[in-house]
Amino acid sequence: MPEAWRRYVCVVCGYVYDEEKGDPEHGLAPGTRYEAIPDDWACPDCGVTKAEFTLIREAQPVAGAARPTSSTVASLDPRAVVILGAGMAGWAVAERLRALDSRRSIIMITRDAGDVYHKPQLSNAFARKQGHSDLIHTSGAEKAQALGITLMAHTRVLALDLERRRVITASKGVPFADLVLATGARPLPLPVPGGELALAVNHLMDHRILRERLAELPGATVAVIGAGLVGCELANDLALSGHAVELLERESRPLAQIMPAEMTGQLEASLSARGVRFHGNASVTNIEVAEGGGFQVHCMSGETIRADLVIRALGLAPDTSLARGAGLATGRGIRVDERLLTSVPGVYALGDGIELDGRLRPYVRPLLEQAAVIAARLAGDDARYRPSRDQVNVKTTSLPLLVVPPTGSETGVWLVVRRDEAGWEMHCRDGEALIGYALSGDKIAHAAVLNALMKDQATAKASAA
Ligand SMILES: Cc1cc2nc3c(=O)[nH]c(=O)nc-3n(C[C@H](O)[C@H](O)[C@H](O)COP(=O)(O)OP(=O)(O)OC[C@H]3O[C@@H](n4cnc5c(N)ncnc54)[C@H](O)[C@@H]3O)c2cc1C
Repeated sequence: MPEAWRRYVCVVCGYVYDEEKGDPEHGLAPGTRYEAIPDDWACPDCGVTKAEFTLIREAQPVAGAARPTSSTVASLDPRAVVILGAGMAGWAVAERLRALDSRRSIIMITRDAGDVYHKPQLSNAFARKQGHSDLIHTSGAEKAQALGITLMAHTRVLALDLERRRVITASKGVPFADLVLATGARPLPLPVPGGELALAVNHLMDHRILRERLAELPGATVAVIGAGLVGCELANDLALSGHAVELLERESRPLAQIMPAEMTGQLEASLSARGVRFHGNASVTNIEVAEGGGFQVHCMSGETIRADLVIRALGLAPDTSLARGAGLATGRGIRVDERLLTSVPGVYALGDGIELDGRLRPYVRPLLEQAAVIAARLAGDDARYRPSRDQVNVKTTSLPLLVVPPTGSETGVWLVVRRDEAGWEMHCRDGEALIGYALSGDKIAHAAVLNALMKDQATAKASAA
């Protein structure tokens, strides 16, 4: 019998490679096995090599397994696992748990449609001419059916009754044995007069609204406030799709929090070559509706920028409201330990909404690793989450960037190791030790080698201690 087709996920951005479909647009014919992909093939979404992909363990259909088919049946099952939220984190838990346990009732509750999409693709969809429906990999209903889980879509959870172990929605209480909070984070507001006029892009529906607004404004000038990861990516995407972009940042350079200065200079130049005008030291004081349409964005420096549309990309804050209301321990996020348990037994949390050791990790790789741990624990294993180092990938296709910053306690010196027309490689060193790196352009393909080097260093340090 021919070997079953497999799927692999890029842990840096969540792109899924399906052997059966291949990726003809990026040089892989349908039916190309993972092993046959050239080592230097680059992930179409973020540019890392196939070394950063991991196999997705698929749920195996079990003969005779009676899976719930309707919300009525499943919601009466007191043994059910209830997953709150249908973002990448919620679906990752459902998929992994189903691969380990074919019979357990799983109920997913979400206020959106539950459609499966890879959020990182929201920041390069315009340039790729991906419409709203192209961004949806599978509808929520289809995915739920394939996994044999109950999806309660368009259902807002109002409260958690942890004593009676029930999730409270407007229409009913849903009992659970184990609860998984995958409720994500919210975009930070722009706390100035007129700040509410700026759109944010954090969900599929936000992107749809942005798309619809832009469709009414062909050739619009867009002001993007905030030049962090999402702001830079959106500026790049909008410029590549023919818009004039004004990128405003209160720091003097883009990506100031995570990237060494030399590299951000290179990014600024490549964005500018695509028509993005960068405004550093631009602290927005207020936004006004302009006479004759559009907006005026006023800055503390006295500068005023005119735009047809304004986007804010100021970062995210975990959504802790439900958890706090139920008495769970929260800080900046929902507090969890290395078992990904909250302060109440049987209540887990993961993804953009959590805090572990005082830190947030709002990226794809952490949520995939966390989902594997929660699924294993729900299936009876004593799994623990050991966070990988942060690896931030910036999908500015004009100049893709990848950085592994030193951790908070480490101090080092940034050095340029290689640079040419096609990209740069910088290392952050503490003496001989490599404690971080930053790569741009084609040098991103070197990430796997540097990761292996840092891993070897850590192993040697651990065995010497
Ligand atoms: C534009 C963009 C680009 C990005 N690019 C990258 C990248 O290249 N690499 C990377 O690693 N990361 C990237 N990220 C971050 C990454 O996408 C997120 O870390 C990840 O998608 C978070 O998933 P999540 O499931 O935790 O949260 P979310 O996607 O926010 O999902 C939360 C879910 O909870 C539901 N929910 C919340 N409250 C309730 C309630 N009360 N009742 C019912 N349902 C509720 C919501 O409807 C939603 O379904 C990017 C983010 C953005 C916005």
